[in-house]
Amino acid sequence: MKKLFITTAIDYTNGVIHIGHAYEKILADSYARYQRKKLGDSNVLFTTGTDEHGTTSQKAAEKRGLTPLQHVTEISNLDQEQIDALNISYTRFIRTTDEDHKAKAEEFFQKAYAAGDIYKATYKGFYCEGCEAHKTLSELDEKGQCPNHPSRQIQELDEENYFFKWSKYQGFLKNLIESNELEIKPEGKRKEMLAFLESGLKDITVSRPKYKVSWGIQTPVDSAQVIYVWFDALINYVTEGLPKGFWDEDTEIVHFVGKDIARWHTLLWPAMLKSVGYRLPNKVYVHGFVNLNGRKISKSLGNIILPTELVQKYGVDAVRYYLLKQGPIVEDSDISEESLKEVYNSDLANGLGNTVARIAKMAEKSGFVFNDLPSIPSDDYPFEKDFRVDLVLAHLKELLGNLDKHINENEPWKIEDEEKLKAVLIYEVGEITRIAKLYEPFVPNTSNKIIAQFSNSHIKAQEGLFPKIK
Ligand SMILES: [Zn+2]
Repeated sequence: MKKLFITTAIDYTNGVIHIGHAYEKILADSYARYQRKKLGDSNVLFTTGTDEHGTTSQKAAEKRGLTPLQHVTEISNLDQEQIDALNISYTRFIRTTDEDHKAKAEEFFQKAYAAGDIYKATYKGFYCEGCEAHKTLSELDEKGQCPNHPSRQIQELDEENYFFKWSKYQGFLKNLIESNELEIKPEGKRKEMLAFLESGLKDITVSRPKYKVSWGIQTPVDSAQVIYVWFDALINYVTEGLPKGFWDEDTEIVHFVGKDIARWHTLLWPAMLKSVGYRLPNKVYVHGFVNLNGRKISKSLGNIILPTELVQKYGVDAVRYYLLKQGPIVEDSDISEESLKEVYNSDLANGLGNTVARIAKMAEKSGFVFNDLPSIPSDDYPFEKDFRVDLVLAHLKELLGNLDKHINENEPWKIEDEEKLKAVLIYEVGEITRIAKLYEPFVPNTSNKIIAQFSNSHIKAQEGLFPKIK
């Protein structure tokens, strides 16, 4: 592998992203940072963005008395603010209203149409606007509503649509997933996708009539229809203006997605790409949802916390560290401000911060000049295989523990022999620097601060990295 292309899902602009969206962004960002160290900055492309078309955004705009574009631009900017506050190192923030995206979506639709995979027919059935998805009777609850949106009236549609021949790709997809040519992680999700495939694919709608949905990209084959959700949103991964060469054979392509949209990324997207003759992604990593205090995070429950609120209180790296430690989120994970404080105090204030402070104080007190430190080979940690960042963080915590033990056992404050003291301190300064480098993908600001502090030949004790919180 020479190049890597990492994506997060792009978020709907019916509302601003909240702390529940942060895990995926931070996980993908950590992976991007980790891989940049190995492959070089210019060989890693990392995208995120906003999904701006469709009825949900259109109605949200109407409610606020704004045009759809005014509304989605405002939300998109607010989303970007949240993502920037989390120090997400994306290469490009893609908006589906960007001109180069719109052009690509039209071209893609045209190609699939030319390939004979798109045809016009009547859709009769249910539709949930909250999900922006068609529903079968078996997907509704006992009251006939969408289980994800029980307070929204399910719609019954009877309209002309263009359909994509999804069913045609059933055998292709089965082979693709069974052979692991498309890796789906974790294993449970792979099985779930295969089971869904086993139940049989039906052709799906890829356009809606303009008189029903006006806020969308017009199909290139029929001016009375706009391109429907997935044939618009998924195309963001092949947006025209992305740096060239990242959709080539020697690139590894990894999508990070939530469990609610796994099906579209593992089953629909590869079929779409196959239809137009594009190469396929290599991996789809699926994660569960983050709940807050045991409850789903949602506007209607009124328990939304924005990433910026937590970042202001605890610092960006504490928020990153805390959320990463929840992983892998296979089903759902529960977070709370109380447990964030606990992790902050135990792992960051008493752990990393305290060890850094101890070594810096002893180094300053010794008055030694620390230059020409021996470079210690930086060992690697396996992060590629299953994105088990929780195991990586546990490993780094163990390295810190060993270093603390080294300090306690050698008691540098008692050593009178100067040569001996120097040897002990050089080891400890080198080791904390090495550990700080290993922490870089996860807590980049903290890591850089530690590295800067200890690369000074006259090491000075500094203000605590993580002051204790009560
Ligand atoms: Zn729904």
